[in-house]
Amino acid sequence: MAGDWITFELTDRCQLTCKHCLRDPGKRPTDLPLPLVRSSLEQAKCFLRSFHAAFTGGEPVLHPEFSAILDAAVDLDYTWHMVTNGQRFERVIDTLLERPLRKEKLTALTISLDGADEATHDAIRSPGSYREVMKAASLCMAHEIPFAFNTTLHAKNVHQLESMGLLASQLGADRISFILFSATGTKHDAELYLSARQWRNVMDRIDRLAEALTIRVNIPEGFHRKQPWHVCAPFTGQQIHVDVHGRVILCCQHAGIPRDPNDNRDIVGSLYEMNLAEACRRFLGIVHRFQEDKMLAMERGELKDDWDYFPCNYCMKYFGKPYWTSEGAAGPSAIRARRKKRLPVLG
Ligand code: SF4
Ligand code: SF4
Repeated sequence: MAGDWITFELTDRCQLTCKHCLRDPGKRPTDLPLPLVRSSLEQAKCFLRSFHAAFTGGEPVLHPEFSAILDAAVDLDYTWHMVTNGQRFERVIDTLLERPLRKEKLTALTISLDGADEATHDAIRSPGSYREVMKAASLCMAHEIPFAFNTTLHAKNVHQLESMGLLASQLGADRISFILFSATGTKHDAELYLSARQWRNVMDRIDRLAEALTIRVNIPEGFHRKQPWHVCAPFTGQQIHVDVHGRVILCCQHAGIPRDPNDNRDIVGSLYEMNLAEACRRFLGIVHRFQEDKMLAMERGELKDDWDYFPCNYCMKYFGKPYWTSEGAAGPSAIRARRKKRLPVLG
């Protein structure tokens, strides 16, 4: 397994309550311990083709030892990037400027933007968050810090796809990435759902937008494929993902999301119990089984739903997570939703 980068879900703390979030806001906050991050970075140097670390959350900057984690990475000669919600960004800038090497090794800050105007963005993420994102982008420009936007598309903001691309370009972002919204297993799935046919139309719009804009437009894994066989970047071993509990998992989409409690097949192993090399060996075994089973399902003609042609959705379904069908969401509902709102299990 020769990866291109290692991703750490540093914390599940966050100030916002986005409708499409996959984490459990009712849970006691968990932070990935600094020694585990440092030791994983050291061990990963045997596997990675390029030394690059990515930090996600929750909101990664809320990790109590965020500065020390950055230093662990840059002192080991890693470049880095992170995904941030852009809130209280002055503190992030201060942290970056405190030690020049932190900024030198940064490839980009990826800020989440879910609407081209305040009303749309705030209705999805939290009141006041849009203004904070605009401020974050201005601060990045003022301090010559490269930044990009991540946009999770769904029924509440897809009408603004083109305006969000234009806004990203006007604000000086390097790129904008459009992410297909995954089922969360909560009550929000019904209001955010788009059909497989609508998603194919969205893809056409993204392609046209990419031709029109001068900044890069990215479409990460997950969108429709004409042919269901697809090997995603994590399955090629290009990315190693460590979740907030110190476990190697298949990819960031498998972190936090509700699961069938009896189905842990997508958890590769805990780095408290094994070293990274053993976890990577186990990872290969899981990928191999998944691919064999998918090939068999294709051979038997079992991939009948339109949604089976969306690789990440098929993956979620296979590993017992919430997933989309022609009728809406199916699979386990979020434990938090069951506990707090007494929602029925979906599907
Ligand atoms: S900013 Fe990210 S982690 Fe925080 S609530 Fe929104 S989606 Fe979840
Ligand atoms: S959800 Fe599955 S198919 Fe999609 S990127 Fe992650 S591991 Fe790959």
